Amino acid sequence: MSALIDVIVVGGGPAGLTAASYLRRFHRSCLVLDAGDSRARWIPESNNCPGFPHGVSGAELLRRMREQAFSVDARIEDASVDRIVPCDEGFEVGADARTWRARKVILATGLRDRLPDASWVPEAVACGALRLCAVCDAYEASDQVIGVHGPGDAIGAHAKYLRAYSPAVHALPLDADDGGAAGAEARAAGVEWQSGGGRLEFDGRRCRYVAPDGASVVLDAVYVYLGHDTNAGIAARAGAALTPEGEIIVDGDQKTRLDGLYAIGDVVSGLNQISVAVGHAAIAATHAHNALPFVARKTENPR
Ligand SMILES: Cc1cc2nc3c(=O)[nH]c(=O)nc-3n(C[C@H](O)[C@H](O)[C@H](O)COP(=O)(O)OP(=O)(O)OC[C@H]3O[C@@H](n4cnc5c(N)ncnc54)[C@H](O)[C@@H]3O)c2cc1C
Repeated sequence: MSALIDVIVVGGGPAGLTAASYLRRFHRSCLVLDAGDSRARWIPESNNCPGFPHGVSGAELLRRMREQAFSVDARIEDASVDRIVPCDEGFEVGADARTWRARKVILATGLRDRLPDASWVPEAVACGALRLCAVCDAYEASDQVIGVHGPGDAIGAHAKYLRAYSPAVHALPLDADDGGAAGAEARAAGVEWQSGGGRLEFDGRRCRYVAPDGASVVLDAVYVYLGHDTNAGIAARAGAALTPEGEIIVDGDQKTRLDGLYAIGDVVSGLNQISVAVGHAAIAATHAHNALPFVARKTENPR
């Protein structure tokens, strides 16, 4: 039987790594189990991340966060957790044949963006031609030619939102839907509503939208709104409640309805941001620490 760990953190993105650093700094035993597919890896350069006035890539940010967690002896193992089962001491957490036991579990499993089905997508995201988060980086697209791609009934409000950043915003609907009231508002705000059902191309630097009649527009940045899927299946199977959108429901301490199970980051939030994820982590880790049994410190080297 494996040793009982104070807290297992499932997910090693910004939320999970921050929780691990906090827990180790509370002198709690902590294990991060991570499937290694953080959404942050897609970030070419973040410019709204506190403390990085000249920007930071997602890969570099994750590297630093792991280094910070390792500096306080956090353990991180590669594992794709497939079950969390409540038990007398807390939880059994499993990945294939491996099982760990913990008093508390913090879920930081994030979400997966739905992306256009094209082989060039990773390259287009890497160079900023294709984007997934206007809150993150629309500022950098100010005054550029911006596209907004997705179902007609979903992109109107996003297109209007982006009109605050540029006079040249094109709605690029996947279908013939005119966006209803939101589409009308976007057009009234100056958004060019292209005819739907065209195709998106990428030339290695920028995207081009080609309408069904052959008319085309070249775009400096295209925001994609195809939705996402939260990685909340294991939480639901364990007994946590989800919103209709699949986000884990938590209270102000990041607690799910299952005693001892917390959830943080994109798998919870409507505002999917690094600063929100690390804020959740601080709250959950601190609450978990205070809820664990008190342990007076023993040391062989008193100061
Ligand atoms: C292109 C792009 C640009 C962005 N730019 C910015 C920006 O500039 N500023 C900003 O604030 N935010 C930005 N974001 C959003 C940011 O990346 C997320 O808000 C952030 O990564 C959320 O952190 P998280 O730890 O909650 O989830 P994630 O970073 O997604 O980490 C979740 C981790 O959990 C793991 N996991 C999932 N399921 C399991 C399982 N069953 N077992 C074990 N591990 C599991 C995953 O593999 C992953 O490693 C951007 C996102 C994208 C895609």
